[in-house]
Amino acid sequence: MPDVVVIGLGAAGSALVDQLARRGVDVLGIDRFSPPHDLGSTHGETRITRLAVGEGSTYTPLVQRSHHIWRELEAETGAELLTLNGCLVLQDAGAGEAHGAADFLATTVDSGRSFGVAVEELDAAAVRARFPQFAAPEGTRACFEPGGGFVRPEAVVAAQLDSARRHGAEIHTGERVLSLQHLPGGVRIRTERASYDADRCVLCAGPWLRALTPPEVASLFTVVPQTLCWFDDASGGHTADAMPAFIWVLRGPTLIYGVPQVSGLTPGVKVGTEQFTEAIDPDAGFTAPSGAAARLWEELVGPRLPGVGPRTVRTATCLYTVTSDMGFAVDTLPGDDRTLLVSACSGHGFKHSAGIGEAVAQLLTDGHSDVDLAPFALGRLQAPAGRG
Ligand SMILES: Cc1cc2nc3c(=O)[nH]c(=O)nc-3n(C[C@H](O)[C@H](O)[C@H](O)COP(=O)(O)OP(=O)(O)OC[C@H]3O[C@@H](n4cnc5c(N)ncnc54)[C@H](O)[C@@H]3O)c2cc1C
Repeated sequence: MPDVVVIGLGAAGSALVDQLARRGVDVLGIDRFSPPHDLGSTHGETRITRLAVGEGSTYTPLVQRSHHIWRELEAETGAELLTLNGCLVLQDAGAGEAHGAADFLATTVDSGRSFGVAVEELDAAAVRARFPQFAAPEGTRACFEPGGGFVRPEAVVAAQLDSARRHGAEIHTGERVLSLQHLPGGVRIRTERASYDADRCVLCAGPWLRALTPPEVASLFTVVPQTLCWFDDASGGHTADAMPAFIWVLRGPTLIYGVPQVSGLTPGVKVGTEQFTEAIDPDAGFTAPSGAAARLWEELVGPRLPGVGPRTVRTATCLYTVTSDMGFAVDTLPGDDRTLLVSACSGHGFKHSAGIGEAVAQLLTDGHSDVDLAPFALGRLQAPAGRG
């Protein structure tokens, strides 16, 4: 009987099985697909990372640990995971609301400064002079973090799972978990193939977590598809050595974000925006609305990113799992203190996922974690209106 079963081996689950295996825990990881895959929340080649966190300083210690863990993994494996080419957060005049923050740029600067992270505040003219890739209108304010950049999610998941296996974890892929049953002193996990009893279970099922949680927990999460687009670098000036990753907070409220063209990855500048109105069942599938890329370029990319051409090189759909305050969920399930729900969600979790994996592994082995996970308790969340 394993000590711990981890269900779902994407961003959070692959980090956790690796951390548990490194601590000598007898751990079984199960995934319905074969991660890394492109069906959930962890694909699209790159994720922005930043230590000055607009979602709040609660998160900075997590991403600091993630960077440390990924650098160690790079040294152990030779894999290329983390590229710190800088991150630029821009905010239009009169804009600010994003990801649960009332003033995303101010929170970015404050969280960075409170942890001694190097950040530079820039006005519109300074942005245009220093980063000509951004047509910042007068009144735009910005913050440049040289130590931000991007991370490669598929490569991270693959490296974490390889490391977990090397440290003795048992990994089952292509095996869907059907149900969890609370037992006296443990949990029974039923899959399509077998039944496993374990001391503890950790549910890291990402957009599918609602299928394995009681209704009062499932109702706290909404799954919304997002479309990612790679546009032609028409001017050739949008490579990772010339341009930082960026987030641009707009009035709406909405935002665009992006990563420059990276050698060896899809040849284009990756840009996305966000939508929170169309919710889906992750098993139902989703196709990007026709014309979505053209609209994104016409309305938001063309006017703001000069030199990025309208030709779409690639599109992809990826799923956000969203909570009422855009924060994470790390807590035991009601009536089942043996099962922990772990969701680094709401569209900003990848950069924190290795830190979350480490903290949850500490919690399970030592009874407490270095980084405080209390802000992610389920009790603070509300179900969206209209859902019971
Ligand atoms: C378009 C987009 C852009 C983003 N940009 C950023 C960014 O720039 N920076 C950032 O930090 N974050 C970003 N994020 C957020 C980040 O990618 C996610 O928060 C993170 O990847 C979530 O990981 P997860 O482990 O919760 O889910 P996943 O990685 O999807 O993992 C869940 C796993 O559970 C498995 N599973 C589900 N149900 C079962 C079952 N019944 N049995 C067995 N296995 C099961 C699935 O197969 C899957 O592998 C972005 C997300 C999207 C969609």
